[in-house]
Amino acid sequence: MHASTSHPEQRLRLERVTKRFGPHMAVDGVSLDLAGGEFFCLLGPSGCGKSTLLRMVAGFETPDSGTIRLGETDLTALPPHRRPVNMMFQSYALFPHMSVAANLAYGLKGLGLGRTQSAERVKALLRLVRLEGFEARRPDKLSGGQRQRVALARALAREPRLLLLDEPLGALDRALREETQGELRAIQRRLGTSFVVVTHDAEEAMALADRIGVMERGRLVQVGPARELYERPASRYVAGLLGDVNLIDGRLGRAEPGGVRGVETALGLLRASGEGEAGNAVVVAIRPERLVVSGEGEGEGDDLSGRLRGRLTEATFLGDRIRYRVEMANGSTLRASAALPASGPIPAVGETVAVAVPADAARILPA
Ligand code: ATP
Repeated sequence: MHASTSHPEQRLRLERVTKRFGPHMAVDGVSLDLAGGEFFCLLGPSGCGKSTLLRMVAGFETPDSGTIRLGETDLTALPPHRRPVNMMFQSYALFPHMSVAANLAYGLKGLGLGRTQSAERVKALLRLVRLEGFEARRPDKLSGGQRQRVALARALAREPRLLLLDEPLGALDRALREETQGELRAIQRRLGTSFVVVTHDAEEAMALADRIGVMERGRLVQVGPARELYERPASRYVAGLLGDVNLIDGRLGRAEPGGVRGVETALGLLRASGEGEAGNAVVVAIRPERLVVSGEGEGEGDDLSGRLRGRLTEATFLGDRIRYRVEMANGSTLRASAALPASGPIPAVGETVAVAVPADAARILPA
C-alpha cells in the first residue's frame, strides 16, 4: 500500500526533529515519512520519547530543531488549534455531566454547523463507532470500551487529516483491548484518515499498525511492517522489544553457499542468516518458537539445522503450546516453545533432548 498517492494531503514528514528538556535529549533527530492513510505505531519503553514526538506533531511541544510537514503544510510553527490534526488521550477527557451527544457536539463547536447539521453529524459519528442509540447516555453509564469509542468519535468529529492517539487502549482490560484493536483498525480503514498511535505494547503495535517505528532513547532505530521487525530486527534491542528471543554470543565465520553464515559460539557452530565481516563479534538471535526440541534420537540427518544437545529442565503445558527450557552444556539456557504434537509423547523434564536451530530463523545481529 502506498496511499500517499491517494491522500497526498495526509502525508506526514518529519525531518531531523529534536527536543531537549534541559540536558536531557528526549527526541534525537527523528526523520520519518508516513504515507497518507497509513496506520503507524510508535513503539518503545517508558521514557524513550514517543509521547514527546507525538506532542510535537500535535503542537503541544515545539521542536528545538527540525521540521514537521503534513502534505504541503509546514506545521512546525502552527499552534495546535490551527493544525488539521487531532489527538486522543488515554484518559479520554469526556465531560462526565454531559450526554454522549453533547460530548460529540462539543467536538463540532466552531465549525459553524446548524442544529440539524450538527445532530446529523453526531449520528454519523455514533454509527461510525457502532454506538447508535447512545445519544442520551452519560459517559459514566458506559462501559470502558464504549467510553473509548465515544472519545474516538469526538476526536474524529472535525475530520482531522491526521489522528494522534497516545496509548488509546491503555485503560481497557485484555479481552476488551483485543476486540477494540480490531475496531480501531476497521474504523481507520473505513475513514482512510492517517493514524499515529503511541504504545509500549509490542503485540498491540503488531495488531494495529501497517508499519511500526521503534524508538530507543529518543532515536527512531527501525521502521517497518511488524513481521519484518519481528523476523529481521536490526539490533538486540529491537529483537527483545518485539517478543521473547534467545541471544547467543559468537564470532562470525565466512559466507557459505546459500547466503548462510557459520557462527562460532560457546554452544558450538551455528548456521545463521545475516550480514557482517568474518571475525566480528556478533549475536545470534532466535525466537523460542523457531527452535525445534525433540527426543535425542528423533529427526536426525537434517543438515540444514544446527543441532545442539541439552537437558530439558522445563516442559510446561500452556494449552495452545508447550514452553521448554533446555540447559546447555555450557550452563546457559535456551527457551523454546512449540505447538502441541499431533501425536506422540512430549519430552520429559530431565531427558536429554536435541535442539535444532534452523539457519533461516537464526539472525545475525551486531554484538
Ligand atoms: P511514557 O510512555 O512513560 O510516556 P514516553 O516514551 O512517551 O514514555 P516521553 O513522555 O516522551 O516518553 O518522555 C521522554 C523523556 O523526556 C523522559 O525522560 C521524560 O522524563 C522527559 N520529559 C518529557 N516531558 C518533559 C517535560 N515537560 N519536562 C522535562 N522532561 C520531560
